[in-house]
Amino acid sequence: MTARPGRLGVGVVGAGRVGAVLAHVLRGTGHAVIGASGVSDASRERIAQLLPDVPVLEVEQVVERAELVLLTVPDDALRPLVSGLAALGRFREGQLVVHTAGRFGTEVLAPARDAGAIPLAIHPAMTFSGTETDIARLVGAPFAVTAEEGALPIALALVVELGGEPVVLPEHARVRYHAAMSHASNHLVTLIAQARGALATIDGVDPGMLGPLAQASLDGAVHRGDAALTGPVSRGDAGTVAEHVAALVELDGQPDLLASYRALARATAQRALRTGRLTDTPASDVLSALDGYPPRAVGEPPRLIRSVADLRDALTPRRRAVVMTMGALHEGHLALVRRAAQLAKEVVVTIFVNPLQFGAGEDLERYPRTLDADLAVLARTGVVDLVFAPSVEEMYPDGEPRVTLSAGPMGEVLEGASRPGHFDGMLTVVNKLLHLTRPDASVFGQKDAQQLALVRRMVADLDMGVEIVGEPIVREPDGLARSSRNVYLSAPERQAALALSRAMAAGVAAAAAGPGAVLTAARDVLDAAGPLVEVDYLALVDPSTMRAPEARDAAAETLLAVAATVGRTRLIDNAVIDCPGEE
Ligand code: AMP
Repeated sequence: MTARPGRLGVGVVGAGRVGAVLAHVLRGTGHAVIGASGVSDASRERIAQLLPDVPVLEVEQVVERAELVLLTVPDDALRPLVSGLAALGRFREGQLVVHTAGRFGTEVLAPARDAGAIPLAIHPAMTFSGTETDIARLVGAPFAVTAEEGALPIALALVVELGGEPVVLPEHARVRYHAAMSHASNHLVTLIAQARGALATIDGVDPGMLGPLAQASLDGAVHRGDAALTGPVSRGDAGTVAEHVAALVELDGQPDLLASYRALARATAQRALRTGRLTDTPASDVLSALDGYPPRAVGEPPRLIRSVADLRDALTPRRRAVVMTMGALHEGHLALVRRAAQLAKEVVVTIFVNPLQFGAGEDLERYPRTLDADLAVLARTGVVDLVFAPSVEEMYPDGEPRVTLSAGPMGEVLEGASRPGHFDGMLTVVNKLLHLTRPDASVFGQKDAQQLALVRRMVADLDMGVEIVGEPIVREPDGLARSSRNVYLSAPERQAALALSRAMAAGVAAAAAGPGAVLTAARDVLDAAGPLVEVDYLALVDPSTMRAPEARDAAAETLLAVAATVGRTRLIDNAVIDCPGEE
């Protein structure tokens, strides 16, 4: 079939950019290209240019005639193409069947393998224009290679022949690899195009001016990772970030730019916080500046309201979101506040240490009350309109209410088993505060997962017509879930308390092995925590009912929840687990 011995007859199915370029290079190394299929005008033009004199054939003819079949069709077309050709009996013993789709290993080629062919997956980690300039780019380009063990040397040799640098990937890592590469390359194109779009709106500016800076940043990021970060977010320069957002809001016709700016600046701030480049307060200011436009300037204090009557007067007809807290505010609360600002035009934060939800012997008296500091941190967010901080007498003028809500059986397990009446008291005050603030949405933390589930249940069961939004747990850099009660912990207790979050992380890591393994992994961490940690419960439950998951729901999401007393302080934590279930 080929003119010179030892050379292969190569057939290209789908002469897209990659297929045409790879076939061109293989031809250059002495192989014969026996045919190429391509339906679009662009493919035919590429065949004429990069593969002159190669006949354009039907797909089936290409496969029948080739010793090496190069499948370079769009990702989603690959599986049906391979099964279709196999069903028609077109693959044969010993034939090399190669695809170049990033997300697949060789499993997608199983029908060809079953027919005796040798499946190979090679993905050039390079972008192609479909012209001759691509050929130089192939030299030294990394290629992701997946092949069954015996066939791996063939795949490696093929990549080396193409001028590439093979990187062997297991089948299961392909999608993750491809997601990372697409994020780095394709989304970078979007990012630069968006920035060019903004520059193009300024008279007399050539958008190409971003080239040297963008190239230097790319170079820095590739070689030094997060350490290459510079700019206002990394400096905690919230005022500048707020102005950026304002300027981009004004830029009509480019809404995707604003959304990307916000999402990436948020991710940048969070990474800077995690890697220690930013500390809590400036990071929090930056995050608020991102979400806060247009309500008010960062630093403008919210209005403090003490009485029910003043609250009624202060509420406006705007869409309103409420965050209910007991004060001693920390980053966990502020995440809820920022979420509220995304959900509504008017944001109300309530601060009330509700006696009804504390049992005898609990920490009602010593619970931290830090109203001035709370108002200051809320002011820094720049998104809070009203803070409703009533006294106990204002909330319960007739003393303890005689009519209260009952959480029912869902409130008697986990936290409810250890704190009888806690959830009745919680629901009663939440219900009351919902009536007083009349919000469209209310944001609660996943940190108190049982509370969140009960509030959702109450709103559904009683048709209360308010959207309940859950917000993920905010943690300290070392993993401890943020809590107003963390201030009670002595230094050794603070260290011991890490057992809770580590137990949750161990449970999450064991998810693939099933619910039994999740509980064992978490339990092992708690058992090793030492005498300061006294576990109250560790349980895997259905997150909406707080009961053991039904067998038939085994594959659904479950919640791993823990409560423990560390020293004298009761702490809770939880994690959502995606278990495959135990059949
Ligand atoms: P608290 O002031 O403790 O009653 O909490 C008020 C709200 O903040 C509740 O919805 C909590 O779930 C939420 N919250 C408290 N701590 C955190 C945290 N670390 N992450 C997320 N939300 C939290």
